Amino acid sequence: MDIRIPSMQRLTRLLQQIPYLASRNVHKVAEFLLTMSTDKREAFLAALQGTCAQVELCRECYCWKEKSEGCALCQDATRHKNIICVIESWGDVCAIERSSAYRGVYHVLGGLLSPLDGIGPEDIYLRQLVERVGSIEGRIEIILAFNQTPEGEATGAYVSHMLKSRESVTLSCLARGLPVGSSLEYMDRLTLHKALVERRVY
Ligand SMILES: [Zn+2]
Repeated sequence: MDIRIPSMQRLTRLLQQIPYLASRNVHKVAEFLLTMSTDKREAFLAALQGTCAQVELCRECYCWKEKSEGCALCQDATRHKNIICVIESWGDVCAIERSSAYRGVYHVLGGLLSPLDGIGPEDIYLRQLVERVGSIEGRIEIILAFNQTPEGEATGAYVSHMLKSRESVTLSCLARGLPVGSSLEYMDRLTLHKALVERRVY
């Protein structure tokens, strides 16, 4: 049980809502925030609030973008607009960008299908993907780049089911050889680079 310090308990309860923060680290993070210099803490809080106010999701690829600017990915004229990498999260987009293996565009689903967690097709940006594909002329390659997990497999199968009847679409996926259960975000650059360059027909 936590030592009774109500203000501290309020902070740790809030930190526990951050899904990627291991619960054993919650107290360490709380202590880190409390021992920051006032200047640093104020800059940190201002950056957090400022970022929330100044970014939004691109309505085409669902990556984050500055509200005041176009999407850095969709509006990059050097990217192939007919190659779309379908991916779970913005973090995965950052991982692929770091691998320097890809010059197409993205479609972030904002999650993966997971019946056990109550996440169905309407809860992620799947319908938007189908609409987007329908609006593009010419041949399109859709790269399914999901984590090698049951949710990733299920989402890949669903996207394939929705798009396979379209003659203009070729479906591909990352090369075999990625460790089962592996997450794109934590994969080293070379492995991810190879998985993309050697991608195969789905
Ligand atoms: Zn975009």
